[in-house]
Amino acid sequence: MSELAERFETHDPGEKQVAEKIRCDACPVMCYIADGRTGACDRYGNSGGRIVRMDPLTILDHAAETGASMVPFVAEGEAWDGELLNTGSRFVTAIGAGTTYPDYKPAPFIVSQEVEGVDLVTVVTEGIFSYCGVKVKIDTDRHLGPETAIVRSQGEAIGHVTTGEYGSQMLSLGGVHHLTGGSKAEGRATCDALLNLCNRKPVELTIDGGATIIVEAGKPPVIDGKQEHRMRVGCGSATIGMFATQWRGLVDEVVVVDDHITGVVSEHQAGKVLGWQDTGIKIIGRRSTPGRYFKVSEPGLGWGGTSISDPLSILGEWNAKKGARPGLSLLMVSTTGEQFAYYELDDELKPVEKPFPERLQKSVNLIEDNCEPALCTVLFIGGAGGSLRAGVTENPVNLTRSVQGLKTYVTVGGAPVYVWPGGGITLMVDVTRVPEGAFGYVPTPALVAPIEFTLRRDDYVRLGGYEAEIRSVEDIVAKGGEYLNPRRGTGAPSDNPWPPLAQLRRAASNGTG
Ligand code: SF4
Repeated sequence: MSELAERFETHDPGEKQVAEKIRCDACPVMCYIADGRTGACDRYGNSGGRIVRMDPLTILDHAAETGASMVPFVAEGEAWDGELLNTGSRFVTAIGAGTTYPDYKPAPFIVSQEVEGVDLVTVVTEGIFSYCGVKVKIDTDRHLGPETAIVRSQGEAIGHVTTGEYGSQMLSLGGVHHLTGGSKAEGRATCDALLNLCNRKPVELTIDGGATIIVEAGKPPVIDGKQEHRMRVGCGSATIGMFATQWRGLVDEVVVVDDHITGVVSEHQAGKVLGWQDTGIKIIGRRSTPGRYFKVSEPGLGWGGTSISDPLSILGEWNAKKGARPGLSLLMVSTTGEQFAYYELDDELKPVEKPFPERLQKSVNLIEDNCEPALCTVLFIGGAGGSLRAGVTENPVNLTRSVQGLKTYVTVGGAPVYVWPGGGITLMVDVTRVPEGAFGYVPTPALVAPIEFTLRRDDYVRLGGYEAEIRSVEDIVAKGGEYLNPRRGTGAPSDNPWPPLAQLRRAASNGTG
C-alpha cells in the first residue's frame, strides 16, 4: 500500500464512471462521487452526472463599494442576460476556479483585459500546495515557549517556535514534513490548523514547555486564557531613551523591566546626557552596557515578558556610597506600561511601595498610548512549483523566469504577494488581504490556494502560453467554465489595488512598459 493510500481511500486512474459514480480528477485522491454528493474535500460534487466545483467563481469588482456582500452574477442554471452589471475594472480571481491538476491541461481561466491601454492576460487556477505553511507573528512580550519548541494542534506536532522579533513572538507552522512526513493524524491536524488559520478562523495551539494560545489572523492573541492588548513600545533600553526627559525632575530613578533588555535611567546613556544623578541601584542580571541589563529573570508571563510578578526581585542591595539615600524615589514600569509601581527608600535603604503619585501617571499613560494594539498576523507561504506552472505555459521554467524578471505579477485571490528572491516561485501573502473562505484543502493532505499570474498578452504568448484559451471577462461572467459553477461578484478590499496596476506602473517607470 502506498503512503498516499494509507492516508485515505483513494482510487487508481481507471474508468471515468463506475456504476452511478463519476471520478473527480481535481487532485490525486480521485474520488468516485455519486449523483448529488460531494467528494472528500467537499469542493467538488456530482450534479446530474457532471463534476461541478461547489463554490462560485469569485470576481472582484474594483468599482464597487468595498466590503460589499457577495452577489451571484448568475444563479446556477440560469442564463445570463448579457448585461454588464458595472463598467469598472474586474479581476477574475482563482477562488472557485478549479485546477490544472493533473497538469496536462491549461489553467481553468485565462482572461484577457485591457487596462490603461495595455492588453493583459491573467492566468487563474487553484493550486494544490503540499509545500506550504504559515508564519505567525504574535504581538506580545509574554514568553510563549522556548525557541524550537514544538507547537501542537489537537495534540499533534504542526510546527515550532522560531526566533522572536521586536515586540512579537514568531511561529513557523506546517511545511511538507508535518503535512506529509509524519503520521496520518499529524498530517490531518496540520492541514486542519493551516486551513483554519488561512481562512481567518481561531485556532488553539499549545507549545511544549510553554503557553496555550488562541491565534486568529487580525485579532489579539489569547495567551493562557488572557487576551493580550498591547504590543510593547520598545525594549527597556529604548523606553528609557524615549521617556527619560519626561521623568526628569519627577523621580530619582526609573527601571523599565524587560525580559530582553532592562533599562535603568541613572546609568543609561540617555540619563547621563540629561545629567541624571547616580542612585546606588543594583540590578541582578547580566550587565551589557551602562544601564542595559540582560537576563534579569527567566522569560514568562509576568512584567515585560519576564516571569516576575514582584519587580523588586530584580534589585540587589542599594549602595549609599554611590548615591542611595533614605527617601530616594523609584519608578518601576513594564515595556507596555501595563504594570507599574512606585517606591521610596526607607532608613535602611529598603524600597517601600507607596501610593502611585499623580505626577508620574502621565508618563506611564504615555508609554501605554505609544503601544500599538497586539494582533496575530498570519502569512501563508507556499511554493508554486513544478506542476502548477504547466497550466500557465507549456514551458514551465519560462513562467518562473518571467516572475523573477518582474514581467509576471502574482496574486493570491487578488491580494498582492511577496515573491522570495532565488529559485522557484515561493510566495508569501497576508491572509487578511485575501477574500474570506478562499483557501481549501485536499486530503492528500495539502492546502488549496487561489493563485493568479498577470502579464502582458504579448509576453504571455512569447513564453509559450495557451493563446487559444484566452477569453474575455465578459465571456467568463456569461458562460463560466468547465466546472459549471456560478460566478459571484464582490467589492475588492480597499487596500488591494487592481492587481496588475502596480506591475504596469513599475514597468512604465523602468521604461519597460
Ligand atoms: S478530494 Fe476533492 S479534489 Fe480531490 S478528487 Fe476528491 S473531490 Fe476531487
